[in-house]
Amino acid sequence: MSDRVHFLLPNNQPIVELECATAFNALTNDEKKYAHYLSRAAWNGGLIVLVQTSPESPLIFVLLHKIFLAQNIEELQKGALGEGKLTEDEFTAFLVYSCGIFTNSGNYKGFGDTKFIPNLDCSKFESLVRCSEAYRREPKVIQSLWDRIKVPAYKLDEKDKSLGLNEKGVTTYFSANCSLKDAELVNKWAKTKNIECYNSRCFKTTENNTTVYDIKLASIEEGPQEGITIPEESFEGCKFRVTRGDYSGLLKLVNEDLKSAQKYAANENEKLMLEEYIKHFSTGCLNAHKNGSRYWIKDKGPVIETYIGFIETYRDPAGMRGEFEGFVAMVNKEMSVKFTTLVEKAEDLLPNLPWPTSFEKDTFLRPDFTSLDVLTFSGSGIPAGINIPNYDEIRQSEGFKNVSLGNVIPANYKESLTPFLNQEDQDLLVKHRVAAFEVQVGLHELLGHGSGKLFRKEDNGKYNFDIASVKNPLTGEAIDKWFEPGETYDSKFTTLGSSYEECRAECVGLYLSLDRDILKIFGHEGETAEDIIYINWLSLIWNGVGKALEMYQPTSKTWLQAHAQARYVIMRVLVEAGDDFITITETEEGKNLLLTIDRTKLDTVGKKAIGDFLCKLQVYKSLGDFESASKMYNAYSEVPESGPYPWAQWREIIMAHKQPRKMMVQANTLVKGDEIILKNYESNFAGLIKSVVERFPNAEIDTILEELWEKDQKYF
Ligand code: ZN
Repeated sequence: MSDRVHFLLPNNQPIVELECATAFNALTNDEKKYAHYLSRAAWNGGLIVLVQTSPESPLIFVLLHKIFLAQNIEELQKGALGEGKLTEDEFTAFLVYSCGIFTNSGNYKGFGDTKFIPNLDCSKFESLVRCSEAYRREPKVIQSLWDRIKVPAYKLDEKDKSLGLNEKGVTTYFSANCSLKDAELVNKWAKTKNIECYNSRCFKTTENNTTVYDIKLASIEEGPQEGITIPEESFEGCKFRVTRGDYSGLLKLVNEDLKSAQKYAANENEKLMLEEYIKHFSTGCLNAHKNGSRYWIKDKGPVIETYIGFIETYRDPAGMRGEFEGFVAMVNKEMSVKFTTLVEKAEDLLPNLPWPTSFEKDTFLRPDFTSLDVLTFSGSGIPAGINIPNYDEIRQSEGFKNVSLGNVIPANYKESLTPFLNQEDQDLLVKHRVAAFEVQVGLHELLGHGSGKLFRKEDNGKYNFDIASVKNPLTGEAIDKWFEPGETYDSKFTTLGSSYEECRAECVGLYLSLDRDILKIFGHEGETAEDIIYINWLSLIWNGVGKALEMYQPTSKTWLQAHAQARYVIMRVLVEAGDDFITITETEEGKNLLLTIDRTKLDTVGKKAIGDFLCKLQVYKSLGDFESASKMYNAYSEVPESGPYPWAQWREIIMAHKQPRKMMVQANTLVKGDEIILKNYESNFAGLIKSVVERFPNAEIDTILEELWEKDQKYF
């Protein structure tokens, strides 16, 4: 049990607030109501994730919810420390565990899928339970909940440690008796019936000596329905059937909320979209959700953005069943004004980029990009950006939305330590990193991804550039490479493509952030503007030095994440520029690193190095010259063992400074008369727990969750 520590959440677990007040308060009354009811739907539906995570998760939630519902944390603490004989640390560990269950929607981490167990003895947890007000009021109910969870909550056999199928881990997407073989057989059968599994789970039983697979759809309605359920049929010696009614009680709540939201929809697309989602949750029909997604794509640039359903398939060991997710986000109107100005001025700004105008698009096309502030995100974790829907046939022919969740990354900045910097830089970073991030995101998304031309030969043999006059700025020679008909950036650049393109966009951000007029668009002038420029560069280079290598796998020598690799590459380009622009040294006898940047050289050494590199990135991209691109990019991506910058060795130092993932406190929306108010909570354990109690202010959901647990018993 020596690795037990990897399965505990630390008592100094950072908690941060997900701020959205500016964006929420800018909404009209009807928009607030729309956002409120959608949030209710997201939260109620999000409880499904408890059932999807582990067999015991719903009951752990119910026990904790009942305890916190019955009394406030101060009273609970008084009892626990007195009569319960817990130490302060043990009580804190209980709060941390509770926050973990609430923010991950279960006892497995939303990022990483490993189990976490309470960091206090089982006997101490029990004595806390028994001195709670909830126990005093309903001793039998609470004791029975505790008796059912105490073993599974602490169990840490090899199989319990992470999510997975059969002996490899824990899952509730399949009954416990299913192996990979079963999953493959089910998949095979599903294909013959043209069924996608997003909104289902699979339960295997034996009836009359025959194996029966029950594919159970999430829906309010139960019983057969033509076109949705499938009566029992034989396939490869087993029986298969599609039934429905999974999560019925919770989906009922979701649909009540969606119906209320519908009254405040801003347009016909939104109304029809919700209509289809309601149908999907009522009947279990996946096509209804696809149709809803189609209306959702057509609803371009709405003030309130939302998506709900069984979406991401990462946590199903077979990669086909979706975890419930619901989010509600608002366009940050203030930010949007700045982004719009940037786009309007694009034609004036693009010529400043370090490539000839012949390498720029004939007309600037605004990339599909919206920055939203998240009001509500239910599920097992909050991503920083999303690109949905996941249905292939819709993505290919009808499109998708690319959304950056603008308040998620700034929230992550809070309470975060920035090792490897001197105090002065740390202070400046804390002061300006959110402002710098806004500038960088705007430039990255709009002028970064939006800029640059691809040279093509068209079907009719003509070129989309003047082959007689355009010269390659790197060689001074005529253009001798281009995209042939049918070739695309993705087909030529394949696995290198996304990191290379992210790198290009990041470089555009750095390069253009030196333009003081652009800083003015974002409202920054004078000394503040100078500091923000510096912090933008420092922040990106710091990421390349102190964080990127967390996303590098030394054994396989591979990068796990496109943005991390891009930032590492940029950092190495700037280190290579020399002239003491960037200095990185080992300190504390090789236990620490120190990064410094000579800010007086940003406009000279820094600008030239990024400009030259950016020009190469663009030229190779324009020409479709994958060979030169990969040669250059892979060289900078290397992680050397030795030399003046032994990054492979320094990775150990970087990993030792890695910080725990933050938990986020989300606001609630509450009805007050005819108004909807936004209620924020303190960013600490008590604040997070209070937000959950006020979000679910009565025990109705506990009854539903217990029923769902009961139904699942025979399968796990
Ligand atoms: Zn990007």
